[in-house]
Amino acid sequence: MTLRWVATSVLSNAAKICKRDSFGDLSIGYRWGFPEQAPIICHLISQVSTTMFTFLRTWLDRRIIQRSPITELQWTTAFAAIPLLQRLTADEKHRLQELAILILYQKEFMGASGLMVTQPMTLSIALQASLPVLNLGLVGYQGWTTVIVYPAGFAPRRQITDKYGVEHTVQSSLSGEAWQRGPVVLSWDETEHGGIIDGHNLVIHEFAHKLDMQNGVANGFPPLHVDMDSGEWVEAFSDGYEDFQGQCNRGKDIGISCYAASEPAEYFAVLSEVFFERPDILWQHYAAVYDQLRKYYRQDPLARLG
Ligand SMILES: [Zn+2]
Repeated sequence: MTLRWVATSVLSNAAKICKRDSFGDLSIGYRWGFPEQAPIICHLISQVSTTMFTFLRTWLDRRIIQRSPITELQWTTAFAAIPLLQRLTADEKHRLQELAILILYQKEFMGASGLMVTQPMTLSIALQASLPVLNLGLVGYQGWTTVIVYPAGFAPRRQITDKYGVEHTVQSSLSGEAWQRGPVVLSWDETEHGGIIDGHNLVIHEFAHKLDMQNGVANGFPPLHVDMDSGEWVEAFSDGYEDFQGQCNRGKDIGISCYAASEPAEYFAVLSEVFFERPDILWQHYAAVYDQLRKYYRQDPLARLG
């Protein structure tokens, strides 16, 4: 962690040195007498420090992976319990395992309501959580550390304020939740159920919320890649959401949980589950949404079906 701290320190100091003053000038240039050369010098400082940070981060991640105490037999057992992962190629499984090792290193797993979180449980959660970010890396899971696991569904009591400013205590049953800048909370019975391919996967759902929250509250609009078109995303998701609400209002079951019709954030999270588990259903009903998720996750689960 020391090397990571050094790299972070270099980056933040580079940013401070090259900070612009109230006139928009780079103060480093005036302080040291080379205002005209300052932009190119700061550009170089930025490039060098970013390269150094990336190199150190990669080196540290490799070291964590190589020193992992989890045996191949334990990984084989964990993979075998999640049929969904059998669709992956050998290379994808290898990269998924490496991401899972890093998640196990970076996150803290805590049991709630008396649950003792075992190693097979953490391996299952880490593998399922790695699937959405297989080709994205773990950047989207930064800024929080804890995964809380309940044995089954849970019903937290919360204080809410209604539109008239009156406070109420509410209690609703949940199988999982993701807090902004806070923990991911999972029920183990639903997480274990993630091994069955039925279009429902609690871990993918809650971790999709985390990806969505990277640019603020979960709203079904995560930060897109530079090669994606935000207009195309909005059109595909708005049209799909409106149509799906209509399907649910008419009582029509198309194999996608109507929980997705409750709000845009849930539409994104639920359809992410369907995208990975039942891409055929998503493609059949909402091809434009499938196409956007394929670009966002940089994966094509439909092609894996053969
Ligand atoms: Zn949700």
